[in-house]
Amino acid sequence: MTLRIHNTLSGKIDELIPGGEKRESISDYPAVTIYSCGPTVYSYAHIGNFRTFVFNDFLRRYLKFRGFEVNHAMNITDVDDKTISGANKENISLKEYTDRYTEIFFENLKQLNIESVEHVPRATESIESMIEIIDKLHKKGLAYENEGSVYFSISKFDGYGKLSRLDKRETRTGIRYDTDEYEKDDVRDFALWKASKEGEVSWDTPYGKGRPGWHIECSAMIRKIFGKTIDIHTGGVDLIFPHHENEIAQSEAAYDEKFVRHWIHVEHLLVEGSKMSKSLGNFYTLKDILDRGYSPRSIRYLLMSAHYKKQLNFTFAGLKQADQALARIDNLIINLKYVKNENPDHEGLEKIIDDLYKNFINSVDDDLNISKGLGIFFEFIHTINTLLSENRLSKQNCARIIKVLEDLDKVFGFIFFPENGSGDIDTEKIEQLIKERSEAKKNRDFEKADMIRDRLLEKGILLEDTRHGTRWKKKR
Ligand code: AMP
Ligand code: ZN
Repeated sequence: MTLRIHNTLSGKIDELIPGGEKRESISDYPAVTIYSCGPTVYSYAHIGNFRTFVFNDFLRRYLKFRGFEVNHAMNITDVDDKTISGANKENISLKEYTDRYTEIFFENLKQLNIESVEHVPRATESIESMIEIIDKLHKKGLAYENEGSVYFSISKFDGYGKLSRLDKRETRTGIRYDTDEYEKDDVRDFALWKASKEGEVSWDTPYGKGRPGWHIECSAMIRKIFGKTIDIHTGGVDLIFPHHENEIAQSEAAYDEKFVRHWIHVEHLLVEGSKMSKSLGNFYTLKDILDRGYSPRSIRYLLMSAHYKKQLNFTFAGLKQADQALARIDNLIINLKYVKNENPDHEGLEKIIDDLYKNFINSVDDDLNISKGLGIFFEFIHTINTLLSENRLSKQNCARIIKVLEDLDKVFGFIFFPENGSGDIDTEKIEQLIKERSEAKKNRDFEKADMIRDRLLEKGILLEDTRHGTRWKKKR
């Protein structure tokens, strides 16, 4: 079995070959180097953005589950038109402004049980690397200056368009470009560096005072962290053109080596048929959904359960179905934990578990088909429920199944494992504090409610608010 994933660059489903050289077994490969375009921190991210971030998390978790090592970077875009104008409107520094939204973003990642990645570079901390690329392009005659800005000359890069396969006519006529930008030699050219306008944040460079263009940020951070061709680059499909096309052009033109082996793009989350986006105003933030009483893991489940190459239409009915799917898993765990009988071991269990692993891996190895993988997982749950109802599982069998669920949850990240007791703080005390917190919330005494939550957190107890009340678990 080999892991094969659709590659936007080749247009095919390609085997993942970390380092570019085929090896005999997974453990022989070098760590998989991954770069994911991160958020622009000018406001709250919406759950459309989180579809892509949950996918990135699923990808890294699955790679590790399969035995690969990962070396993953996700950037924070903390300088662009929107962040600058947001900070100016509030009359605060760019850093103060972007720090606020970066913090909220990280909080959201935690709520969605998205693992931290190995590198989280900020664009504003990578300016030197950007200038290094621009210098190289300039020296090679591939970039030109005009009124303090520096542009990339697309006509001088042969491979332009290889990722997006844009219709040649479109690129030639500039249909997709801002034709009002007269300062460029060719409407298709894009800014590597932008001369700063009055009152804008800027950096001193050999090209004058200015700030980076968006595309150069990612190319520079990739170079700075990995220093060579990377294995995987991810992002939403809206980034294929122009962002990723431009990243390829700059990086390959500057360093004369392949930039990325495998490009993976996630389809959009839609609302009533349109892309969920800030500009259309049809978006929900994570908080919007949590305030309606849904749990973060239901959202994680919903976003993760659809195949990444299929558009997903967001509905509350879909979220309720996610709730129900999770309830099936919760109920199974409760039933497994409280099996009281003294049944003998069920001989066939290991075969059932082997089949589960084999079929699950077969499905997900095939272009990360998690929908199919989940189908197999729920068939397994059905089989186990039947065995439980027929009293055919021993206590050891049940403990073994819980271990399997824990193992699969390394990929899923949405299973809730309740605790029987919890070390230094007793269950009764926890329940009592949860009750007090609910009372406080009812009385709109949010300070007290938060204080109780923090007190429990200090003791290693995590609370989860669901529509059926508050649950708790021990921090792992
Ligand atoms: P941004 O903060 O706008 O740069 O977007 C962060 C990430 O979210 C990028 O990878 C986008 O492609 C992705 N994204 C934006 N809107 C959606 C959507 N509706 N569905 C899925 N991904 C999205
Ligand atoms: Zn990017």
